[in-house]
Amino acid sequence: MKSTELLVDKLRSIYFNLVTMDPEQRDRDTLQSMAEHLKQVLPISYIGLYLFNEWRREYEMCICTAHAQSIPCQEQNLAEDVMMDKRIYVKTLQDKHISLLSILPNRGPKAIIVIEHKLSISMEELNIVMEETEKLISILQLKEQRWERSRSYLSELTSQLLSLTSRKKILSEILQGLKTLYPELTHTLLLSQDTEVESGLPVKTIEYSDDVTKRVSTLAFISGEVQIEEQYKETCCSLYAPLVGKQGVYGVLQVISDKGRYIPKIEADFIAQIASTAGKAIENVTLYEKSNLLVADLKLINDATHKLNSNLEMKEIVRHMRDQVIDVCEASEVGFIYYNGDQKKRYDVLTGSTAFFNSIAGEEFVEYILDHPACNGEPVFKGNFCAIDDFPYQSVMVIPMSHSGTVHGLIAILHQTPYFFTFSTFKLLQSLIQHSALAFTNTILKDKLERAVITDFLTKLYSRNYLEEKITDHMKTGQRGALILFDIDDFKTINDTYGHHIGDEVLKQVSNLIIELISKTAVAARWGGEELAVYVPAVTIEKGVEIASSICKQVEKYTNPSVTLSCGVSSWKCKLSDTVSELFIRADKALYEAKNIGKNCVVKQLNEDAK
Ligand code: GH3
Ligand code: MG
Ligand code: MG
Repeated sequence: MKSTELLVDKLRSIYFNLVTMDPEQRDRDTLQSMAEHLKQVLPISYIGLYLFNEWRREYEMCICTAHAQSIPCQEQNLAEDVMMDKRIYVKTLQDKHISLLSILPNRGPKAIIVIEHKLSISMEELNIVMEETEKLISILQLKEQRWERSRSYLSELTSQLLSLTSRKKILSEILQGLKTLYPELTHTLLLSQDTEVESGLPVKTIEYSDDVTKRVSTLAFISGEVQIEEQYKETCCSLYAPLVGKQGVYGVLQVISDKGRYIPKIEADFIAQIASTAGKAIENVTLYEKSNLLVADLKLINDATHKLNSNLEMKEIVRHMRDQVIDVCEASEVGFIYYNGDQKKRYDVLTGSTAFFNSIAGEEFVEYILDHPACNGEPVFKGNFCAIDDFPYQSVMVIPMSHSGTVHGLIAILHQTPYFFTFSTFKLLQSLIQHSALAFTNTILKDKLERAVITDFLTKLYSRNYLEEKITDHMKTGQRGALILFDIDDFKTINDTYGHHIGDEVLKQVSNLIIELISKTAVAARWGGEELAVYVPAVTIEKGVEIASSICKQVEKYTNPSVTLSCGVSSWKCKLSDTVSELFIRADKALYEAKNIGKNCVVKQLNEDAK
């Protein structure tokens, strides 16, 4: 057998024993034994093994067979020498030979073996040592624990992260994992501005980072690719790994090494993988949250339309909508403006709107919104509204209520704080209002129709039928009440003197005065022609006379051209038998008497039984 073949056999048998005899043995001890064995096989006086440290980018001594003082060359020289193309380098110094073998294992770090020998060793033999040692180091690296730990950590992390439903938990899991795997590195999460920054974690928004960080992290964020800045602050290395999902990038993981350390490519790739796992997990949570919000929004819209369609009264609908709007966006003021066909007063502020809309400032705001061409039927979303001097609200949303292409009104939503409302609430309110518009408009129309049926067109007083119904109802449940009939004196003369049109105006003036002067519970109606009636519940006939007299005085004083009234007053009380028609007959009789005794006076007619 040739001596080289013999050497191969010997080395293989030694190395085989080294890796199989004690699998628990630390790599460093195995390498130490390897060096000792080599010394016995070949005429070697010293062996040193240097492993390349990727973090520091330099060769570091791992083992040697003598004291450090006797290391034949400086590490730097050694690295420089081996950097040359040759894998084996032999130097002869006086009586010593020094051979450097460059070891490039399949896995694990590069290494250099330094051998000092008095007798020369053939190139062939050195080559065999180099090749066999490469194999040994490859096998030893299989036992490298950090890499193994990283692998299993990644698979564990992936399954764990994807099952989490809280962003904060995901972020803290990642940071905790990185801290365990790489305690020597500083980890920070830079999130995009639209992501909420979690408190209690090393998390920042990209916006608020320093300039360098912002530049590189923005690049990683936009490109979705890992960025490495080796010159960061001239002392350390920083890595920016984007948190990429399938639909976007959610932030950037910033990893900074200590002074003088580099982040090896293999580790950078691994960190990038963790970041991308985090990105996918955040995406999951984001989608999950979005779908939850969507379901909540749909439920809200569904509940609202359901409620509005359940035949509520106008006031209740407005109140319900107002409360919903406040619930959704915490508005300070909500106003429901409904366009009115009447030319004089173009809109109504619906009852149920918040108080501001009935104030002068509220009126000014509504006038602005209605007159401004930019707001003409268009939605408004402003966070810095300043079109009106001293206007206390800066956040303004105006959403038109339209149905079948016609705008029927609008809902105005206000808050003092600038930029208070988010665009997503604006969108939600838009669809809420859009879905409610039909029910809303129907109720308003129904309300108007009902009012028209019971209201006299000219005087806006109730109709005679409505008055009779109200008295009938009250006579069933109440204790007492008074009825006043008015007839304008010499009204024909007004018509003849000033014309019918002025006659109508006077009739309206009288009606308005009556509405102003009577209590909220009283009902005023047009009895017919220029005859009007007021029913006052729960009062005696004397009180009825008092009210009638006061109305007469005011009418004489404030009508133009001035007219006077004649009044007949009757009353009922539950102890005496009575009917609605008898109540009217008595009031009519009293009115007739008032006319007879000279007009412009009040006459009462008691119930026969009461006399
Ligand atoms: P008296 O003091 O006796 O009540 O005299 P009068 O002129 O008011 O007489 P009377 O009550 O009999 O006449 C009512 C007049 O009021 C007749 C009618 O032309 C007029 N009139 C009734 N309804 C209207 C109306 O809606 N508009 C106008 N302009 N006139 C009306
Ligand atoms: Mg009359
Ligand atoms: Mg008259």
